[in-house]
Amino acid sequence: MNVQPQIAIKHSTCPHDCPSACGLDVEVIDGTSIGRVRGSKRQSYTAGVVCAKVARYAERIHHPERLTYPMRRTGPKGSGQFARITWDEALDEIAAKFNAAERDFGAESVWPYFYAGTMGLVMRGGIDRLTHEKKYSRFYGTICSTVAYVGFTAGTGKVAGVDPREMVKSDLIVIWGTNPVSTQVNVMTHATRARKERGAKIAAIDIYDNDTMKQADIKILLRPGTDGAFACGVMHVLFRDGFADRAYLAAYTDASPELEAHLATRTPEWASDICGVPAAEIEAFAHLVGTTPRSFFRLGYGFTRSRNGATQMHAALCVPTVTGAWQHEGGGAFFNNAAIWKFDKTLIEGLDVIDPTVRRLDQSRIGRILTGDADALRGGPPVKAMLIQNTNPVTVAPEQALVRQGFAREDLFVAVHEQFMTETAMMADLVLPATMFMEHDDLYYGGGHQHISVGAKLIDAPGECRANHDVIQGLAARLGATHRGFAMTAREIIDATLAASGHGGIDGLEADIWRDLQPDFRASHYLDGFAHADGKFHFKADWANVPMANAGLMGRWETMPSFPDHWTAIETVDDAHPFRLATSPSRSFLNTSFNETPSSQAREGAPTVMIHPVDAAQLGIADGDAVTLGNPRGETTLTARIFDGLRRGVLIAESIHPNKSHIGGRGINMLTGSEAVAPYGGAAFHDNKVWMRKA
Ligand code: SF4
Repeated sequence: MNVQPQIAIKHSTCPHDCPSACGLDVEVIDGTSIGRVRGSKRQSYTAGVVCAKVARYAERIHHPERLTYPMRRTGPKGSGQFARITWDEALDEIAAKFNAAERDFGAESVWPYFYAGTMGLVMRGGIDRLTHEKKYSRFYGTICSTVAYVGFTAGTGKVAGVDPREMVKSDLIVIWGTNPVSTQVNVMTHATRARKERGAKIAAIDIYDNDTMKQADIKILLRPGTDGAFACGVMHVLFRDGFADRAYLAAYTDASPELEAHLATRTPEWASDICGVPAAEIEAFAHLVGTTPRSFFRLGYGFTRSRNGATQMHAALCVPTVTGAWQHEGGGAFFNNAAIWKFDKTLIEGLDVIDPTVRRLDQSRIGRILTGDADALRGGPPVKAMLIQNTNPVTVAPEQALVRQGFAREDLFVAVHEQFMTETAMMADLVLPATMFMEHDDLYYGGGHQHISVGAKLIDAPGECRANHDVIQGLAARLGATHRGFAMTAREIIDATLAASGHGGIDGLEADIWRDLQPDFRASHYLDGFAHADGKFHFKADWANVPMANAGLMGRWETMPSFPDHWTAIETVDDAHPFRLATSPSRSFLNTSFNETPSSQAREGAPTVMIHPVDAAQLGIADGDAVTLGNPRGETTLTARIFDGLRRGVLIAESIHPNKSHIGGRGINMLTGSEAVAPYGGAAFHDNKVWMRKA
């Protein structure tokens, strides 16, 4: 007799590095495996929609290539030769290596390294508790959001904005510097509803005709790194043609005659020369914004991954402020809600035991750090031992040639706690198997919305997989680290963190499933003032004193323009490097998560680079040709795709494919740079001058 499987629908939250942090309804089959994953209709931002890669999560969580037991390297670094060991052997060895490094080179020679492979607070941040307790080198996370946060905060005073669900009340939705059809699908749910229900227009501003721009009513195609110029051209028209809301500007902003005089010189023609958008299009867009009070600016990360990224975000944010769009329901701007959660992370991250004299090493500069660059090491000892969780720097970090050189060091001990044999795990001395989100408990928030939630363990992990928290606990016991967080379960930490943060406890949040923390209308629209000390929106940015946590001023911050402008700090083309390359995110990979799932591999295929047909013809390159891109940092070889949806001189390589998928095995980040982006660090992944030739 056939026994029908028992399917229960359980709730969870997507933990991946994506602002949507979707509320999920998960089919749990016989309590042991996962079936279909759907977007929950009960979570008002997710509204029943998730991306295809998570809808098919069963192929990832039940993938036959999951790591399931600890292993020790038995061959040369990178050879892939490993032998099974026990967890006790693995943890003992890590502790011994960490202690040896500390004894010989000081505690700062140990550098625990992590990032956003899970956005769950406990599993992501617990490693910091060990770092701080042991006075290991601190981790300065810059690779994703630092530049964007600075740019937004310079204007508003904090990272928060209009309820993104308000897009359905908008008449114009400007999607700027983000490709949500591929990377955060829920933006489109609300934007397209506004179009359907009230005839709203969707405008997309980006550097190529990506999947979002294809769906837009208005397409603004820029050269990379010129968003600030475009924004200034628009603001010039807004002031010139009487669309500036002067009463609003006087009450809510620091707008001044100097600002207007500055923008008076930033004509549409001036902007057009820089950004490539015809002046008539700049005029038309400005008039549309100027005549549409309910204009919602959904600003993304993409245009901030540039050496002038902070100024670009700030300039874009200034546009709806000139018109006073913030005053209207469905108007204003949103980028991220980081300021609304108010989580007290003391317990999770061990903030109570931080020694501020311990150096902070910049995540984005890992290549230089591991190869002994004194500046990147901040004058301290070499890094001799690492534990890596939730990230894959051999593939994702900039300046890949140096990253690979660093990980190849025989005197560097590396333990990687991972779900799959990533290219970083391949270089490790020890590889430890990690749980996925449905296999452990954690606490989640949505950067792109307003909900918090507990994601409880739904099924057992395969083999001997352990959660990040358990591994950190095991190491803490061996290393003599005594913070109270090491003696608690993940659930106890969640409960205590919620209580300390004024959010009740774990039982209450689990009962709510997803809790909506969106501030009220007046707060979200800054109608009682912006978050700077003077209560004003700042058109004049004070880059040296933006009110956000940082590790000190970096990059060419002294030369940043105070008023919105085109800051020329980007890598400009020259005779030897006539193209500008951006490494925009692909739809089916999420950084390198999902590199291993068959459906993502099938959809993405081999790595390609898009090139304008005229440029391709001049180089004698045909569609499908193997081409090599290069600059002083390195070279990579991939397949040309002739595409007329970008400006001449621009190349787009949707990413991130494994290095090994590139012809010759060198990945796209061979070309990206790691010098710190001003003013507080970050990586300029879309800001690369390169040459190109047939391979
Ligand atoms: S859209 Fe983003 S948050 Fe939602 S399921 Fe996909 S990866 Fe996860």
